[in-house]
Amino acid sequence: MAKKKNTIACDFCGRPADASEVLIPSAVSDVHICAECVAQLDEALQLYRDELSGAGKAEAAAPSMDKVPKPQEICKFLDSYVIGQDSAKKYLSVAVYNHYKRLAQKQDDEVDIEKSNIIMVGPTGTGKTLLARTIAKLLDVPFTIVDATVLTEAGYVGEDIESLLTRLLQAADYNVEKAQKGIVFIDEIDKIARKGDNPSITRDVSGEGVQQGLLKLLEGSIVNVPPQGGRKHPEQKMIPVDTKNILFICGGAFDGIERKIAQRLNTHVVGYSNNSARSNVKRDNFLQYVAPQDLKSFGLIPEIIGRLPILTHLEPLDRDALRRVLTEPKNAIIKQYIKLFEMDGVKLTFSEEALDLIVDKAIEYKLGARGLRSIVESIMIDAMYEVPSTKTKKFEISADYALEKLKAANFETATYN
Ligand code: ADP
Repeated sequence: MAKKKNTIACDFCGRPADASEVLIPSAVSDVHICAECVAQLDEALQLYRDELSGAGKAEAAAPSMDKVPKPQEICKFLDSYVIGQDSAKKYLSVAVYNHYKRLAQKQDDEVDIEKSNIIMVGPTGTGKTLLARTIAKLLDVPFTIVDATVLTEAGYVGEDIESLLTRLLQAADYNVEKAQKGIVFIDEIDKIARKGDNPSITRDVSGEGVQQGLLKLLEGSIVNVPPQGGRKHPEQKMIPVDTKNILFICGGAFDGIERKIAQRLNTHVVGYSNNSARSNVKRDNFLQYVAPQDLKSFGLIPEIIGRLPILTHLEPLDRDALRRVLTEPKNAIIKQYIKLFEMDGVKLTFSEEALDLIVDKAIEYKLGARGLRSIVESIMIDAMYEVPSTKTKKFEISADYALEKLKAANFETATYN
């Protein structure tokens, strides 16, 4: 028997017909459902689907292997943006390629390809983040860069470990399945190392706690991620994310690790009558000999090191490399300024001597590649301010001009980080 219009209500929540936008009648019986209940049902369904995918439905959208760039192609692509760092480029290219292979692997395959998270050790400003950013341009999986320094153990001021994955979820437009195949670059991983060998100092314990938390992510487990990041709080709805297929790339400067490497290399050869191993060691860059035990001496826990099986290093940038950084990469600093002037119809050029001077100053003030930009900026600021209001069609930066501007900008007294 049909209900009278004014008595019709949603049979799920009891909402009267006039309190809902629409009341949908059943096709087979005398029941109704309101728009609000339909919306709720839709939300619940979405959550259920997300949970299902969180349980490891990775196969659905696995990339086809013939579309995936080969390691040498990946490396070539990196070459057009990053100067040098051949070892890191090779390791990264292979790791990313293998990451795709893992994603393409059938679930019922007997041989389970294990994930190979990466750790890159290298002085600050040598291209770790740049490598990660560049690789992200090439990939069609979600990618994010997060900083380990903001992380603290639950209960301390800072962000929970799980918030690392919030950024990845955002990069994947909250598509959990996509995020579960993504890549996370964790910068400054060395900052969560335990300082010293005494674990009783409070701050150090906290560092170790963060490492324990991170371990869970690296190992592959289902993690409840706060969708808005920051701290978890009870009323926030968590999104379960399976980290099994997420590739983690870690980077850190590990200041002072050279000493640990040198110590290890020295103690290793002590006691051998033939000390040729020692004489083969190139003393100018100990980083190239970095081994997992050095990371342990630095304060990373062995479990974390075990979950970062690919260890590679970045070289400090010498004069020659810095000079190339200025002009060679696809978006080299000098090319960017030329472009800026070109948009005003002005042909900007730099004399060879001016470029040499910029590099010399970066070395003199120990600013490395990161300092190149601030040096060029100080040189260019007046020209960028004045030239657009003139009829100038050509502008050359000579070494004299560059030096004059650097002096005027009090460059010698400026502080940099
Ligand atoms: P970090 O190793 O500390 O992560 P970055 O990758 O952030 O260093 O480098 C800082 C900046 O210096 C980059 O944005 C880039 O402009 C420049 N740079 C550093 N290393 C290189 C390199 N190998 N090739 C080209 N540019 C580089």
